[in-house]
Amino acid sequence: MQENVSKIYKTLVCGGEISLAVLDTTALVQECILRHGLSPVAAAALGRTMTATAYLCSWLKGKESRLYVTVAGNGKGGKISVSGDGALHLCGNIAVPGVELPLRADGKLDVGGCVGREGTLTVVRDDGEGVPFVGTSALLSGEIAEDFSAYFLTSEQRPTAIALGVLVTPDGVCPGAGGVFLQPLPGASEEAVCYAENAIGKFSNVSALIARLGAKGILKEYFSAEDADVRDIVFRCRCSRERAAAAVLSMGREDAEALLGETGEVVVHCHDCNTDYIFRKKDVAALFGGEGSK
Ligand SMILES: [Zn+2]
Repeated sequence: MQENVSKIYKTLVCGGEISLAVLDTTALVQECILRHGLSPVAAAALGRTMTATAYLCSWLKGKESRLYVTVAGNGKGGKISVSGDGALHLCGNIAVPGVELPLRADGKLDVGGCVGREGTLTVVRDDGEGVPFVGTSALLSGEIAEDFSAYFLTSEQRPTAIALGVLVTPDGVCPGAGGVFLQPLPGASEEAVCYAENAIGKFSNVSALIARLGAKGILKEYFSAEDADVRDIVFRCRCSRERAAAAVLSMGREDAEALLGETGEVVVHCHDCNTDYIFRKKDVAALFGGEGSK
C-alpha cells in the first residue's frame, strides 16, 4: 500500500487542537539504501532521521529555507547528517553505511546500538534571513523518535508525540517506512496533550502499518481523517558538477595538479548522495585556464 513517491499528509484532529502528520517515506528510504549501500540497521537509523527531518521541513515557511539535522551519538554507525528544504527535497548520509549489529532480543533492528545512547541531536534552521536558529538536545535512547520528542520539548517547547519506523529485509528492500507525529497546537487543552500521548502508543510498529495500509489508510483507520494536505517528499542532493568544480578551484592549482600526477584524476566526492565528480587533466587545465604548469 506504500506509494511510489514519499508523501506527508497533514491535518488537524482532536477538535482542531492537534496537528497530525502521517508520512510514508518508503521510496525515500529505498533510494538511500541504493545510493549508499546501507545495511538494514543503517537504513533504519538514517531512514528514521530522514523521516523526522522531512516533518521538520514541512514547517519551513519558504521553499528556500533549509534545515540541517545532525545525530551525533556514540554508536557503531557513527554520525548521521540530513539536510532538507522547504520544498521537501532531502538528502543525507550515515558515517558507516555498512554497519552490522545483532538483532535485539525482540527481533527488531538495534537502531539504538547503531546511533548510540549518548550524544546530541542538533537542528540548524536557516530561513535565509538573519542568524540561523540552532537547537540541540541530548540523545535519550538513540532510537530517533524519542530523541526527536526530547528535541521538540526542550529546544522548541513543543511537546510532540512521535512514532517512526523503517522495515528492511536482509537483502535491502524496504517494504514500508514512515512516521506519525501528533503535535498539540499552542494553547491546546490538557485532554488534547493526553490524547496525543495515548494515540501514539498504537504505532509501535508503524513501518508494518505503512506497508499494509499506507499513510492514507492510517489516517482513515486510526483518525477517521478523510481530508488532509498532501505534499511529495523527494531525495534530491544540492551537489552539482559546477559545485564540484568550485571545490577543485579552491584546492588551488598546485594541489590539484599534484593529485593528477598521482592518480590521473581529481575526484570530488559528495557524501550526501554518494556521487563522484571526476576531473581529468584536460578538465583541470580548463578550470584553471592557461597552459598549466606541466
Ligand atoms: Zn550530492
